[in-house]
Amino acid sequence: MTSPLTDPPVPSAADAPHSAALLERARRVIPGGVNSPVRAFRSVGGTPRFMVRGLGPWLWDADGEKYVDLVCSWGPMILGHGDADVLRAVAEAAASGFSFGMPTEREVLLAEELVSRVGPVEQVRLVSSGTEATMSAIRLARGFTGRSVVVKFAGCYHGHVDALLASAGSGVATFGLPDSPGVPASAAGETIVLPYNDLAALEAVFAERGDQIAAVITEAAAGNMGVVPPAPGFTDGLRRVTARHGALLVSDEVMTGFRCSPSGWLGLEGVPGSGAPDLFTFGKVMGGGFPAAAFGGRADVMAMLAPEGPVYQAGTLSGNPVAAAAGLTTLQKCTDEVYARLGTVAATLAGAVEESFTRHGIPHRVQWAGSMFSVFFREGEVVDYDDARDQDVERFGRFFHAMLRRGVHLPPSCFESWFVSVAHDDEALEHAVRAIAGSAAEIA
Ligand SMILES: *Cc1c(COP(=O)(O)O)cnc(C)c1O
Repeated sequence: MTSPLTDPPVPSAADAPHSAALLERARRVIPGGVNSPVRAFRSVGGTPRFMVRGLGPWLWDADGEKYVDLVCSWGPMILGHGDADVLRAVAEAAASGFSFGMPTEREVLLAEELVSRVGPVEQVRLVSSGTEATMSAIRLARGFTGRSVVVKFAGCYHGHVDALLASAGSGVATFGLPDSPGVPASAAGETIVLPYNDLAALEAVFAERGDQIAAVITEAAAGNMGVVPPAPGFTDGLRRVTARHGALLVSDEVMTGFRCSPSGWLGLEGVPGSGAPDLFTFGKVMGGGFPAAAFGGRADVMAMLAPEGPVYQAGTLSGNPVAAAAGLTTLQKCTDEVYARLGTVAATLAGAVEESFTRHGIPHRVQWAGSMFSVFFREGEVVDYDDARDQDVERFGRFFHAMLRRGVHLPPSCFESWFVSVAHDDEALEHAVRAIAGSAAEIA
């Protein structure tokens, strides 16, 4: 195994002079030149491509290169780029005013859409990012229970909330960072980190500290250490143990929500036999590419929020009318046919990986959560973060660049899901499948 920070593959600045120049300028005024760390390509080496345009499944960068987009803004662009209906809704909303700081009907419509899709969610509050959603859900759980300890699972990413950064996935995994400096010991000390899919560890912690635990937060299906779905019975076990000890269960569906199914991971797995989670968090798809996210759940818990109750939570731009219009129109267009097509697109790509990697003897493991999938550069089932980290990161870096040169933009980390859209038509798929075959041959 190679550390993601050493021995990067050959940089490709020469292939992307305009992006390289933009990165140099950006680095003077933005730390690392990027506004979210994984964008910097550190784990794969080379120059991040500055994008100038997206349409359907395609992206164009500052050097005029064209790519099949398998990042889809890390999930939100489920309809592809520049969807005409979303564009119209956004333009209409913007024409009526960008932001009022007062309630609007669009917020009600978006909240109704969320509540109608996810049965156990009786009420939601809109926020502007997934991080805000999980931060607020944790505060609410602490306020509701009067307890302070939070349990999370290693490799699960819930945004960059102080209490939830410990052993987080996504960029924290990509960079192999220790728990982040700047998080006070007092915040980290209230967080217990357990291995994902390990109910025995959960039972043991609850046996010892059950009366101090406000909540267990979990990714409904983990997607930030690569895709690691919950083992059969895991979600149900979380519900059973938390309920027995009076702790809340928070299901983080920021990534899976409205992507895995019309009602997220819950729609695929069903409500656990022991009951539904108390709180859910949403983001990504529900913003349609704009900053909109939400947390919600049981009405009696949500009633603790100000102004109904004492737990404070607020936002100048929360429920922003332009973002709400984008999110609402995106969700309204996410029909059963859309989910069926996402499944076909994902199966085509994953099938091509399986076939090409097998042909060239490249160890691999593909794992699924609905149409979310990822490719681990190792063999054998991946059930937790230790498994996920035990893969050939360096070989992924070479595959990533082989794909990029062939006009396919993968997430620049092997700890991320591949995201597809309904706009990935046969032309884009054929292009991607050819790139997979060629890239597999190159890295064999
Ligand atoms: C992306 C993500 C977040 C954070 O959302 P942001 O909008 O980036 O703050 C939280 N939880 C999960 C599961 C995510 O995938």
